[in-house]
Amino acid sequence: MPTRTPVVLITGASRGLGSGIAIHCAKLGFSVAINYAGNQKAAAATAEECSKHRVDKAQRFIPIQANVNSREERLRLLETTLKEFGRIDALVNNAGIGPRVRADITEMTEESFQEVLGINLQGAFFLTQAVARHWLKGTKKPAIASGFKIIFISSVSAGSVSLNRGEYCISKAGLSMASKLWAARLAGNGIQVYELRPGIMLSDMTRGVKQKYDALLTEGLVPQQRWGTAEDVAQAVGSILSGQFPFSTGAVITVDGGLHLHTF
Ligand code: NDP
Repeated sequence: MPTRTPVVLITGASRGLGSGIAIHCAKLGFSVAINYAGNQKAAAATAEECSKHRVDKAQRFIPIQANVNSREERLRLLETTLKEFGRIDALVNNAGIGPRVRADITEMTEESFQEVLGINLQGAFFLTQAVARHWLKGTKKPAIASGFKIIFISSVSAGSVSLNRGEYCISKAGLSMASKLWAARLAGNGIQVYELRPGIMLSDMTRGVKQKYDALLTEGLVPQQRWGTAEDVAQAVGSILSGQFPFSTGAVITVDGGLHLHTF
């Protein structure tokens, strides 16, 4: 059903930061393609929550299962988005995993390296390539006044060392370069690209290490002295998609309460 309502595709939007981003986008008037890997119930709950916050009855919220680590499934994800919504105006590459086992880099397995880089980096890079190719055909004008947008959700780990999840750090450092590459490639085509770097955020990903980070927060690790939330990231995404950073393509925007500051 083609519509001029702006459409955002968010990967990994069933839970955590992605779900928060989806709900915030609903409040801003976007239709949302809610990608997920396997958790259909959580994706349906995100869609339901988005519906409660819609500001226009033309907005739609559709869960689409696809593993971003599979070429076929990535292409199907884009095709389904275009079929369901008739257009795409923004892509938020949010889907990501940590290693199944946190092991020192002397013990890290190649399987874990491949899995983490496949989802976090290769998946995001080539989904972006597919969406960029679609836009470069030039058949549709953007429904966002300031142009099509791509956002990569990286991490403070793009620049900080964690010896027991090196594959995650490498994937996020690579994602940071992917953001720069796409920003430079697409700037002349009126498409802006941004990297958002969250810090320590409350979600399923950090649930297993919550006590450890609670203690580190008490000791002052994060200057703003609290956990980050999905809403913190969602507000930054919302500002970008609303065109509040029109001359900042390639920017790295931290959402980490000052964690990246080197204080003595
Ligand atoms: P969660 O573990 O809470 O959620 C992960 C999401 O990604 C789920 O929606 C999951 O889908 C989806 N997903 C996982 N694998 C795939 C896949 N192969 N294909 C498609 N979707 C997939 O993570 P967060 O919300 O915490 O993290 C979101 C992003 O933010 C990640 O890129 C993460 O690296 C980054 N980040 C997180 C931080 C944190 O402290 N939490 C800090 C910095 C960055 P399903 O529900 O179906 O499993």
